[in-house]
Formats: sequence, structure tokens, C-alpha cells
Amino acid sequence: MHILVANLGSTSFKYRLFALAGEQARLLARGGSERVTDYSQAISHAMHELAAAGHMQSPQSLDAIGFKTVFAGDLTGCVLADAAVEQALRDTADLAPAHNPPYAEGLRIFRERFPSVPRVALFETAFYQWVPDAAQRYAVPEAWHNVGIRRYGFHGASHKFVAERSAELLGRDDIAQAARRLYLDGPQTIAGAPLRVISCHLGGSSSITAIRNGVAIGTSMGLSPQSGLPQNNRVGDLDSSALPCAMRRLGLSLADAERQLVKESGLLGLSGVSNDVRDIKTAADAGNARSKLALDVFVRSIRHWIGAFLFELGGCDALVFTAGIGENNPWLRTAVCQGLTELGLELDVTRNTSAPVETDLSAHGSRTRILVIPANEELVVARETARLLTARRDA
Ligand code: ADP
Repeated sequence: MHILVANLGSTSFKYRLFALAGEQARLLARGGSERVTDYSQAISHAMHELAAAGHMQSPQSLDAIGFKTVFAGDLTGCVLADAAVEQALRDTADLAPAHNPPYAEGLRIFRERFPSVPRVALFETAFYQWVPDAAQRYAVPEAWHNVGIRRYGFHGASHKFVAERSAELLGRDDIAQAARRLYLDGPQTIAGAPLRVISCHLGGSSSITAIRNGVAIGTSMGLSPQSGLPQNNRVGDLDSSALPCAMRRLGLSLADAERQLVKESGLLGLSGVSNDVRDIKTAADAGNARSKLALDVFVRSIRHWIGAFLFELGGCDALVFTAGIGENNPWLRTAVCQGLTELGLELDVTRNTSAPVETDLSAHGSRTRILVIPANEELVVARETARLLTARRDA
């Protein structure tokens, strides 16, 4: 099955073409354009590149096009992306202003150019469909809840991959199989001891998700990707009184305050140096106090959520690090796991400094396995797209 994965950023269009046979995937081609102002042109360019490489003799060369859509309120899951999905993306763009308009536009362009090729949307919120009500609710008036002010959760593609892969690595093939088919069959009853995983997606944007038997039961992100851990330049969790208070004290308009929370906060706002952890670590090591504080706040927030989910899950069989920061920074993993030996979490110092590939970092005797599982979100989209199409063909 040939699946094109289209990644539409606010100023970029990137693609990867995969050949899938069951769970096996081969990357055939990748490419894209930066500084995009016209998605139609960028998509034409990509199609020419694919044709020149011999991958696009006709539209029939593609079995489907997959999209890692972010947010459309209660519309979620891994679904065929028809015109109604495009409209839902537009209708909910207020909460994902950087992501939804490009995806709505990209879906429309592909629909018009390749009407016979199925388009599949894998929503980042999809993994949280079965989170218990108590973990979805904010303590707001009922009317607020009824207009969608609730926790949704994000990075679903990445955390679902961790759910599948960690179950495989821990020898729980029953759970891995159920996790792979989660969006097709929903949660299944699993016999035996539950598998409890805490997945830390730490990158430009970060979140921590608690997973029981392959199903998410809670996550650090809430209504929007503005919440949870401090993000690269976005604020993360913030007391709701802070916004009106800062507006009054600094004389900010709502638009200015929102922009500062989205673009000038997070690790950038804290450090004053950069939104990139590498630069912040270099500055902290050179004695920059704000950079050191930024890293301390980040680590404290990670530990806060891990601690919450350790309780919620009643223990943890695997703590997983994934994405750019989680995979590549041994010092951060050391800081996160500091002093947890009595709770059953202990890093092996040597393994922790090994290359950023899939690795078991746990010390001999650590009750909780501490794993690095590299993220590959395009592959996740390709696999979910193939699973949906196969299930529909088999039905
Ligand atoms: P995005 O959410 O934009 O996809 P990534 O998952 O690529 O982001 O994560 C970006 C973060 O990961 C940056 O803070 C960067 O410092 C960190 N990072 C990426 N690669 C490395 C590396 N080789 N060493 C240390 N940190 C890295």
C-alpha cells in the first residue's frame, strides 16, 4: 500500500511517501518546501518531485493520503477526511489557529486534485477518546463545558506509538495488538496484570500521557496545546487569573497578552536566551541563571506530571522518553529520574548516555523500565491510515 503523508505547517509543506506491507513500512521518498505562502503551488511542486522520482505515474499510484490533523473539538479519531472534516477544522480554528487553516486548505486541494484517492485524518486528540470524564472536566460552569471548554489532549500520534511499542518491548503482545487496533475496535478487556506506561513526549512542544493497557487515561495537555508543561515558546499551565491581572498591570490588550503567551513565554520567556533546549543548556552551563531556572522549571513540571500519573496508574511498568528533547538529552533524563530509586525508577548511567536510538536505560533492579522510543509521527500517520483502509476493505 502506498501512503503519502502530508505535513502542513503554518509556513511549510512537507511530505513522506511510504510503502506499507502490514506493519512493515519502507520510506520511498520525502521532501517539501519551506516559507510556503501558496499551498497549492507547494503541493504541485511535491507532486512533480514524486513524478520525477518515478513514484507518481497516475493518481492510482497512491492508495491514500494521510494527514496529522490537530483539533476539531468533538470530531476526532482516525477518520476519512471528507468536506465535513475540512469544515470542522475551519470551525474550530480559534483553538488551533496555526494548524487548522493549513490543514483545511491542504485537504481541499488534495480533494480537488485527486478526488479518487482517499484522504485520512488522524487527529492529535484521537488517543484521548476514552479518558475518564473526571480527567476531561474543568471545574467551570456547565455552560462553558457545553461549548467545549474541557481537556482534549494532544500529541496523540506520538503517545499511541509509544503505547504500541512499549507493549511490544515489554513482551505484552496482547496489549500491543489491542493498541494497534484501538481506533478500529475501541478499548478491549485485557486479562492479567495491567500494563502501566507513562509516556513523556518532550520536544518543541511537550506532553506527558498516562497509558493503561494501551489506552490513555490522562494527559498533561488540556483545552489547547497552550497547556501542560512549559513549551518552547508557549506558556503551558497558567492560573486563569494571570491573564486579566497581567493585562491590567502591564496595560496589555487581549491580543498582545495572547501573543506574548504563545510566542514569548515557555522556555524562551523563562531563559531569555532561546526556545531551544540545546542553547539553554549551554547558557546554563556557562552560568546563566535564567537559563538554569528555565531548565529547573521544565524538569519540575515533568516530574509533577509523572508523579500524578504514577499515583493514577497505581505504579508504572515503563517510563518512556520520546521526541527531540526526550531522545537526545541524557542530562535531562537524569534530572527527571533523580532520587526515585525507592519508587522503583533507576537509570543506568552508561546506557543513559548511549546513542538516541531505541534503548532500555533502566538500571539492573529498577522495577520500572525506563525506555527511549524514537518518535516518527509520519510513520504513525501512515500506519493508522493503512489500518483504517484495510479494515474498511475487509469489512
Ligand atoms: P518539534 O516539536 O518541533 O517536532 P522536536 O521533537 O524536534 O520538536 O524537539 C525540538 C527540541 O529537541 C529542541 O529543544 C532541541 O533542543 C531538542 N533537540 C533536538 N535534537 C537534539 C539533539 N541532537 N541534542 C539535544 N537536543 C536536541
